[in-house]
Amino acid sequence: MADTNKILLGDDRIPRTWYNIAADLPEPPAPVLDPGTLAPVTPADMAAIFPPSLIAQEMATEREVAIPERVRAVYALWRPTPLYRARFLERALDTPARIYYKYEGVSPTGSHKPKTAVPQAYFNHLDGTRRLATETGAGQWGTSLAFAGGIFGLPVDVFMVRVSFEQKPYRRAAMDAYGARCVASPSAETAAGRRILAEDPQCTGSLGIAISEAVEMAVNNEGTKYALGSVLNHVMLHQTVIGLETIEQMALADAVPDIIIGCTGGGSNFAGLVFPFLAEGLRGGRRYRVVAVEPSACPTLTRGAYAYDFGDTAHLTPLMKMRTLGSGFVPTGIHAGGLRYHGMSPLVSQLLDLGLIEARAYDQTPCFAAGVTFAKAEGIIPAPEANHAVRAVIDEALLCREEGRSKTILFNLCGHGHFDMQAYADYFSGKLEDRAYTDEDLAQSLGALPPVTAA
Ligand SMILES: *Cc1c(COP(=O)(O)O)cnc(C)c1O
Repeated sequence: MADTNKILLGDDRIPRTWYNIAADLPEPPAPVLDPGTLAPVTPADMAAIFPPSLIAQEMATEREVAIPERVRAVYALWRPTPLYRARFLERALDTPARIYYKYEGVSPTGSHKPKTAVPQAYFNHLDGTRRLATETGAGQWGTSLAFAGGIFGLPVDVFMVRVSFEQKPYRRAAMDAYGARCVASPSAETAAGRRILAEDPQCTGSLGIAISEAVEMAVNNEGTKYALGSVLNHVMLHQTVIGLETIEQMALADAVPDIIIGCTGGGSNFAGLVFPFLAEGLRGGRRYRVVAVEPSACPTLTRGAYAYDFGDTAHLTPLMKMRTLGSGFVPTGIHAGGLRYHGMSPLVSQLLDLGLIEARAYDQTPCFAAGVTFAKAEGIIPAPEANHAVRAVIDEALLCREEGRSKTILFNLCGHGHFDMQAYADYFSGKLEDRAYTDEDLAQSLGALPPVTAA
């Protein structure tokens, strides 16, 4: 087993429970607050936008949450996903490091996202939801929810950030194929969208704006609920299948990671891989070095504030304590669309605050260079988001070469780049731009954080 490049598990090894890290944190997560009263929100407050089952998971305190058999049956379409030893990349880098990657690109939509889309559609269906509204950045989430909604007979409206809507027509076609309706955001369909278009008809959109539009649809339409593809606790929960499988696969490979790496947009693919590993240290066992990697163009973990903020631009959501650049922050149109969110999962933010994880940021050009090195060696063309993780992996592996010592590096290859080839084409023709923000650039949106001093 230790000599193969690919470590597989049988269908019977699909986890039966998700792992809830909130149960093991040294202090409970900060409460989510009502922006008007600053009181902690109750399940009833969230009922307008989420179904009861998912609200319960959002606030769950138990360590393990059962995965319904119908969800496991859908997971079995592509899970367990393979863990690879990147021997060809190791050779190409001439490094003594051992590199492993969990490959989430084998899912129907090419990323880790269906892992939460499927249970979200399932629990909405179970709780009587008749329609789902959501946002999408690069299109990965919208496609995944479209797929999952189709399985459980739920129509899906997707507000797609305009810059991606224009850059990625094939993503839109994929959503059409799954039967969803896709609208460029900001749109004229909501008050939030109309307000922004009135100020700036050319607005390229942002995840924060698209979230406002989808939340507004849910609030204003009986039977419509909202679904979010990252950031929230129940999304992190669903993604832990990644790490739970990987722990078994690393054991089969007789390998223990010295460094675990993932890219972070809202934090879910990263959380999915690393939370089950962090669980060991939180419960008195082995502690792992864990690195989150984000784009310099949206530096939430490395330059954001740890503060209460809104999840959206129009301030329709409750306040979450998280790393944030301010809800008015609109990142440049970098190609890693999935990493362009102003906030970060409150759980991931708390782990950074506790010093249990590290964070670093890279410009997109060196990330694409790393992605191309990876593709040449291993064959898989990574999603632009995943290239951030690949950059950090290659840098760590090159450091091992310099220092003449071996380390075991594990990372999450959260998706393939087949829908993002325009981004690669732009990279090859030298059209990608790296934009560094000055502190003054960031100060404007950070200065507009809601004044919450309690908690
Ligand atoms: C959505 C997406 C991301 C960013 O979201 P996280 O919640 O941080 O995982 C990263 N990679 C891919 C391939 C995505 O589709």
